[in-house]
Amino acid sequence: MESKKILIIEDEKSISDIVRFNLKKEGFETEAAYDGEDGLEKALNGNPDLILLDVMLPGIDGFEVCRKVREDSSVPIIMLTAKEEEVDKVVGLELGADDYITKPFGMRELIARIKANIRRSDFADSLKTEPADVKVFGSLSIDVNRYEVFKDGKTLDLTLREFELLKYLSERETRVFSREQLLSEVWGYEYYGDIRTVDVTVRRLREKVEDNSSEPKFIMTKRGIGYYFRRS
Ligand code: CA
Repeated sequence: MESKKILIIEDEKSISDIVRFNLKKEGFETEAAYDGEDGLEKALNGNPDLILLDVMLPGIDGFEVCRKVREDSSVPIIMLTAKEEEVDKVVGLELGADDYITKPFGMRELIARIKANIRRSDFADSLKTEPADVKVFGSLSIDVNRYEVFKDGKTLDLTLREFELLKYLSERETRVFSREQLLSEVWGYEYYGDIRTVDVTVRRLREKVEDNSSEPKFIMTKRGIGYYFRRS
């Protein structure tokens, strides 16, 4: 297997150096950027397989880098956040980050998370060559093999996690799932997040699939319990 390239956007050189050292030992290729501008340039032109992105950066911060990268690319992004900054995790996910890890972190955990995110991304890429298998739910169509979603015939731009959540709920139409169930079924054991992650992803998904995200017709809330899918 060709080695995967990890871009590390982190201004603290000591952290960047030790992460690079450990990733190289694991057989990854690495590239480093020490500020937001350079990070963004390398993210868009250096063709990384995954990006480790610090939130607090000189110049443009990690959130802005994340938002700009997402306009162009679905490369997996893991945000590096400070432990106290709970809000950072939610903002990062809303901007389209795939995962986050809090500082200080252990190298084993970091490497496990990198590998898990690359596996998911490779798996999604491998599905793009599968034959189409389209499920139609009124104005919404979901190609479960190719990870594509269409609304009124137009392709929607979903992140991998948004797609996985939509697929999971739509395959179990009308069944209600708690946030805990969805976190465990859709995010899986590899994820260490909290249940607000589910709410954030539902909100993003509604903005994309619903005509009016405050009056959803597909992704429904069951008050006090969780979420379910129905065809509109
Ligand atoms: Ca920093």
